[in-house]
Amino acid sequence: MSLNSSEDFRDQLSTADQEGRRRWLYPRKVRGRFFRARTWLSWLLLALMFAGPFIRLKGNPLLLINIVERKFIILGQIFWPQDMIMFAVALLVFITGIIIFTAAYGRLWCGWTCPQTVLMEMVFRKIEYLIEGDSHQQRALDKAPWTAGKVARKAGKHALFFGLSFIIGNTLLAYIIGTEQLFQIVTDSPAKHVEGLTAMILFTLVFYAIFARFREQACTFICPYGRLQSTLLDENTIVVAYDYKRGEKRGPWRHGQSFDQRRAGGNGDCIACQQCVVVCPTGIDIRNGTQMECVHCTACIDACDQVMDKIGRPHGLIRYASVNGIERGERLKVTPRLVGYTVVLAALGMVLGFLIFTRSDVQTTLLRAQGALFQKMPDGRYSNLYTVRVLNKTSRQVPIQLKLENCAGSLDVLGQELVVPPQKQAETSVLIELEPAAMKPGTTPVVVGVYSQGRRLETLKTGFIGPRDDTVQ
Ligand code: SF4
Ligand code: SF4
Repeated sequence: MSLNSSEDFRDQLSTADQEGRRRWLYPRKVRGRFFRARTWLSWLLLALMFAGPFIRLKGNPLLLINIVERKFIILGQIFWPQDMIMFAVALLVFITGIIIFTAAYGRLWCGWTCPQTVLMEMVFRKIEYLIEGDSHQQRALDKAPWTAGKVARKAGKHALFFGLSFIIGNTLLAYIIGTEQLFQIVTDSPAKHVEGLTAMILFTLVFYAIFARFREQACTFICPYGRLQSTLLDENTIVVAYDYKRGEKRGPWRHGQSFDQRRAGGNGDCIACQQCVVVCPTGIDIRNGTQMECVHCTACIDACDQVMDKIGRPHGLIRYASVNGIERGERLKVTPRLVGYTVVLAALGMVLGFLIFTRSDVQTTLLRAQGALFQKMPDGRYSNLYTVRVLNKTSRQVPIQLKLENCAGSLDVLGQELVVPPQKQAETSVLIELEPAAMKPGTTPVVVGVYSQGRRLETLKTGFIGPRDDTVQ
């Protein structure tokens, strides 16, 4: 794309040398408007991430993904194996949403909200800067011989990294098994929770390995969403892009040189200062064009904007833009395609929200008791016996009342009042009696309302069996 690109950049990894050995990256500290905005957002996201397992909605955690026990809670709603169809629809909506979002907005998620980027750049990297200094100081420290000072700094940093990884690992575990079980593992005898303790140690080690060693490699080689990008992005997608039309041909800037003098010498706005490269946490040169490694963290935008300030040129030599926008020399604008994608995305979000929030608190089945036929009662009415089974999907006790909705007759729950304990199933027998005048020959359709504390939760349809001839009338 750019005129001065190194021709073989797509054949090389920025994080490996010719022999394939890891090339450690020392990205320089970033300052600028995007970094400030990302910092504020990261505080909010970190607070949400760590507080998430403790936040309760309707008495349930905000999010719980217990794969082992097949128990899922999303936004306080418990999903049971019986909800799998709805869960599959929600998953489909979610995946479609991701595809549309990425096609329109590129890797906005990766740069601004992905936990890997937020934790790496806003927590672990900042600790590293605090203990070892900026990029050049870190390089010097790594090259320096092992002195007591170096050992202390390295040990301190890694102890902090390990401690943080332990907290992150436990937070993830809390999202899987819930805070109550996590506290039990911590407070009980270790012998009682071998699996839980193993998971705790494993998660801690994985997070420590990711943030202390793998770092950008997790985005480049492991993350499946990152791998999908190449198939989802096109020339209209918003990406972090270098405006090669404005920037080329690159050349150093001489103090006091005016823009007209640069243009006369065949140069563009890029002064080849490499500031966009040295801040990049994935070690790439964005001037080579859109690359798989770019997580759209905006560090290069901030770095280049600062350079533009110094040489008196407008911001945005590197900016959010589409490839077509750069081609035509346009600033970022809202295209009909972007509006269309956003509308579809909002609609999908609403479908997902509707599915989650309109889900019934209970799931009831009403079946005619096996082998039971109709009976004629002494008062002339006919009766059918049913078995009712109620699954309580909430974490509170639910008293259930059943009402006959569409015929003249009565409905009686046999035995005690039907009260379903939290997250449990209850079963009882129900006797429905109909007036002969309300019955049809053979089967009469019957509608039963399922109520709790005066609120109708569900409506069930079933058949009421009576004599086949018209003697019922
Ligand atoms: S920071 Fe801007 S001016 Fe400097 S090399 Fe990068 S694109 Fe060119
Ligand atoms: S090229 Fe720019 S946006 Fe992409 S990862 Fe590097 S610094 Fe971040």
